[in-house]
Order: sequence, then C-alpha cells, then structure tokens
Amino acid sequence: MTSRPARLIRRAAAAAAVGVPVGLVVRATWGLPAAIGASRRGPLPEVTGSPQFADGTFRNRLPGPVIPAVSARSGLLRQTHRERDRGRPVGAVPLVRPEFPGEAAELAATWLGHSTVLLEVDGRRVLVDPVWGDRVSPSPLFGPRRLHAPPGPIDDLPEVDAVLVSHDHYDHLDLPTVQELLHRTRAPFVVPLGIGQHLRAWGVPADRVVELDWDQSVVVAGLTLTCTEARHFSGRWFGRDDTLWCSWAVHGPRHRVFFGGDTGYTPAFAGIGARLGPFDLTLLPIGAYDPAWREVHMDPEEAVRAHGDLGGGVLVPVHWATFNLAFHPWAEPVRRLLTEAARTGTRVAVPRPGERVDVLDPPEVQDWWTDVGSADDRPAPPRASLSGRAARAVPGARGARRRAAPRPGRSDRRS
Ligand code: ZN
Ligand code: ZN
Repeated sequence: MTSRPARLIRRAAAAAAVGVPVGLVVRATWGLPAAIGASRRGPLPEVTGSPQFADGTFRNRLPGPVIPAVSARSGLLRQTHRERDRGRPVGAVPLVRPEFPGEAAELAATWLGHSTVLLEVDGRRVLVDPVWGDRVSPSPLFGPRRLHAPPGPIDDLPEVDAVLVSHDHYDHLDLPTVQELLHRTRAPFVVPLGIGQHLRAWGVPADRVVELDWDQSVVVAGLTLTCTEARHFSGRWFGRDDTLWCSWAVHGPRHRVFFGGDTGYTPAFAGIGARLGPFDLTLLPIGAYDPAWREVHMDPEEAVRAHGDLGGGVLVPVHWATFNLAFHPWAEPVRRLLTEAARTGTRVAVPRPGERVDVLDPPEVQDWWTDVGSADDRPAPPRASLSGRAARAVPGARGARRRAAPRPGRSDRRS
C-alpha cells in the first residue's frame, strides 16, 4: 500500500506535469501531512464499537444523500467560476477587540468569527471550534481564506476550562490553533470519536483528550458536556467519514447552552431539546447552505426551527461572515435569519466578530452588515410591516431570495 506522503508527492508531480510551477506545488504541499491529521492506521476499538460506525465509516442516523454524486463535476466548476465572489463582502467587516472579564459570567458568549465562540457558563469558560488560522485548508496557499482577521490574538484568551470541537473539517479543527492552545491552556480537548487520533498526532497528550460518542457526557469543572447528534460528514483530505461529527450540549448548575457545530436540519433536535433542554442559549450555523447539500448544512430558516425544537431562549448565529464556503451572498444568512426570527418571535443576538453577548441581557440587534455586503446583497424594499426586535433592527428586511438549484455537481468544500 502506498504511503500518504508518497501519494502527495505523486500528486504534486502530476500537477507539475500539467503546468503548475514546481515551486508553487512544493510550497502548496509543504506541511500537508501534518495538517491532514493522523494517518489511517485503522480505527481504534472505541470507534469501531460505536453504533454510528459501520463498514469502515461513521453514518448519519437519518439516511439520505449527503453530497451529490461525483458525476457532472463541470457543473459545479462553472458555478464556482460564475458565483465564487458572491460570498465576499465589499466593505471591511467591523471587528471588536474582545474583552473578557476577569471572572467568567453566568451566561455570555463572545463570537470570535465563523464557529469560534468563547462561552461563559456559570462561572466557567468553554472554547468551541477554535480557529485562528488564515486558511481553512491543508495548505497555506490554497483553500478558503479569511474574509476578516481574527478579532483578537489568541494570546488574549483567558484560561479556559474545556475546548470543544464539533468535527474535523478545517473550518472547525485548525492545526496551528490546536498547537497554540496546547501550550497556552491546560484545558482538555473534548471531541467526538476519532478526532483524538488527529490530536495525538499533533502532540496533544492522551490525558488531555476526551473522545465521546453521541449521547455520551463528561463532567469538566462542574459543567456537563454532552456529545449530541448532528447531520453532517467529516474528512480532512481523501479520507471520508472516518471521524465522528456532533453538536454539543453544555450544562452548568444554572444554565444550559447548545452548540450546533455543522449540521443539516434534523428531527433529532426535538429529541435533544426534550432530553437535555430547554437551552438558555443556542449557537446555530446559518451560513454555507446550498440546495445541493441541504442535508448537511441547514439554512437560516431551519436554524430558527431547530432553535424552537431545542427550546432555545436566545439564538446567536455562527458559521457565517468569516469564510466564503458556498454561493449565497455574504449577508444573506443574517438577513434571512432576522426575517424568520421576526416571523416566529425568536430572540436573536447578532454580534460583530469579537463582540461579547451578555445572554441574560442581550443587546438590541443593530444592522452592521448591510453596508459591508456586496451589491447584490442588499435587502429588497419592504412588502409587509414587521414587528419585534428583529424588525426594529432591520427595517425593510424581507423574505429570502431563493435561487434555482444548481446543476448537479460535487462539493469538495469541506465545511
Ligand atoms: Zn463548517
Ligand atoms: Zn463541516
């Protein structure tokens, strides 16, 4: 069997053969084996024993298509060429330098861009899906790059009690960030099954890794961290679904938080809400949706529905604004979210990257995104009056403009 580095070198040689400068190829592949994570030496017993694991891969409980077939790849390539810039802002994304109180609060969330959040729950701190890297890619030269800088340096982080990871896609599990956290904190990395192999390969001591299957919990610093179901997939390179994906429930003595990770809408949310809810705060993904992969990335309306299923109090949207991972306009996720929130009476807080939300006294929503979005990313004139917090925040927001489904293609975007 050919080793992975050997395969990478062969691919680099093949790229060079079709005209890519050799220097570029070498730089692009430099560091790839480390960033990819653990080599596939075969799953460990705790992985193969999981009810979610069968025939060599993890599976969603809800069957169905996850990613369209490989065929007709040219369709997606054409779409990529035509629409790849729709997800970019034209203005600078406003950043807030994070300020963390000396003592963790009863319930607060500091959004650090994309899905990275520092939670304060009952006096403890939990960092979720930490990504400070510039690109969400195995290479420093290709792959989606940040649309805004990290709002603050990783050095500014206070000591955290636990680091949670939802799955192994690059926009959620970042090698340089893990290596920084390894030395800056003493916190355990609490992850779904299989990700421990990546972490140990990157130098994280085994006694700082807690791997859980769906519906399993661990108690850290008085918080109960429960690995809960999500509908998604995994993989950092050619391997696929060899590590588990999940959402997380964080229970303190007085407050409860749900972090959605990456997920399509699933009826499992209602079960999680019934067993572990209601949640004072939900952090749910609202971006990177597309009709071609709707089973694994929910849209903003589905996020509001999930929030209701979970018995959510305040919804803070994540998984938008920081990376261009799909074809929708940059600000469309938040516009659609607020329209649906107004329709359903859902309480939403939309922080700027770096902004801390006091969940017990959430701020009024202020529209900071319209001036940042692209020309085709403006809300249409109002057709109906809205009421409630979201309506006050975004006068004129209206229902989403739906695109026709793209031609069949395959997403290589791993988000
Ligand atoms: Zn993602
Ligand atoms: Zn993902």
